[in-house]
Amino acid sequence: MHDADQILAACDELARLSETDTGIMRRYLTPVHHDANARVAQWMHEAGMAVHQDAAGNQWGRYEGLEADAPALVIGSHLDTVPDAGRYDGILGVMLAIGVVQRLQRSGRRLPCAIEVVAFGDEEGTRFGTTLLGSRAVAGTWEPEWWALTDPTGICLEQAFEAAGLVPGRIDTARRESSQIVGYLEAHIEQGPVLEDRDLALGVVTAIAGARRARITLTGCAGHAGTTPFDLRRDALCGASEAVLAIEALARASGAVATVGEMNVTPGAVNVIPGDVSFSLDVRAQEDAVRDRTVAAIVESLERICTARELTMHWEDTHSASAVACADWLQDCVSRAVTQVQGDEALHLFSGAGHDAMAMASLTDVGMLFIRCGGGVSHHPDESVRADDVAMALDAFEIAVIRAARQAGLPA
Ligand SMILES: [Zn+2]
Repeated sequence: MHDADQILAACDELARLSETDTGIMRRYLTPVHHDANARVAQWMHEAGMAVHQDAAGNQWGRYEGLEADAPALVIGSHLDTVPDAGRYDGILGVMLAIGVVQRLQRSGRRLPCAIEVVAFGDEEGTRFGTTLLGSRAVAGTWEPEWWALTDPTGICLEQAFEAAGLVPGRIDTARRESSQIVGYLEAHIEQGPVLEDRDLALGVVTAIAGARRARITLTGCAGHAGTTPFDLRRDALCGASEAVLAIEALARASGAVATVGEMNVTPGAVNVIPGDVSFSLDVRAQEDAVRDRTVAAIVESLERICTARELTMHWEDTHSASAVACADWLQDCVSRAVTQVQGDEALHLFSGAGHDAMAMASLTDVGMLFIRCGGGVSHHPDESVRADDVAMALDAFEIAVIRAARQAGLPA
């Protein structure tokens, strides 16, 4: 219990490193990001790690294995937050990783590979509008055009690097060689309500869902709300309403999740039949094939609705990201650890939210442990975790890390 209390106290302490006086906001390359790295580096050092900050502003700590310079199992998460954030999203994963190394150090234990803890500087993309900047620098998927991205005050990424004492021209040195990394394990709050609903503290992540987004416009004919009889109407909002329910039903049936989160109705007057409706669509599933089949079924269904209601449809794809599967062997390590700590068979679930593990997957095998959060709430000051869950998460993460390090360190 002592360790979990320390971890929660560390999360409380980092919550005070905020750009704002009320609430928590800690964006990439700001002075409070610098301060958070410095505090985390101190904890890493106390846990017996050699520390350094890389060229992208990610904080690292390395705990050597049985032999010096061995490849490393990387564990960690991110330190940046959204505006008005909670105190556990990302941060808890960093502190659990440090907690695991602290236990290894206390027992004087060395593993067949090194353990490196990483605290990524940008996962949320809050400052420059592009996510996963920290982990993508490490994975070697940094895009040169990002240097021109600007924050809301007009400072570009290149200037922000310089202001933070980083050298843009050295960004390539943040990239890690896949031959030096055996895998990446991340612990993170679930950010959803599934574990709480099942009365479970911990879960095993199978995959991080890939999202597809589209902008859909249905066009009918605007007309007088009093003088146009129903059989002469081409009401775009009635069509869109049918479409929203069809989208829900199709996604439910296929095992995907789909959301219409935003809608514009024109002309948008109390006494006018809606002539145009444009709405957003977000579809996610643990496998791209399931997601794509769902989108295809949605297109077909919307076409039928439009035909029946004499509407026309304009469909614009706006975003597509592939799902990332967690490696079987790392899922197995996490699953056995969860079973051992929690007592019953581990629940496997996919992540509907993005994580640093998505970027790290282009470098190495990835795995994730989910921790229950109160009400499934995240990206909000009400984000909460239970102390006994954090204690179980630390035990499970320690077991998973040791198992993974052993497996990876075994001679082929
Ligand atoms: Zn996060």
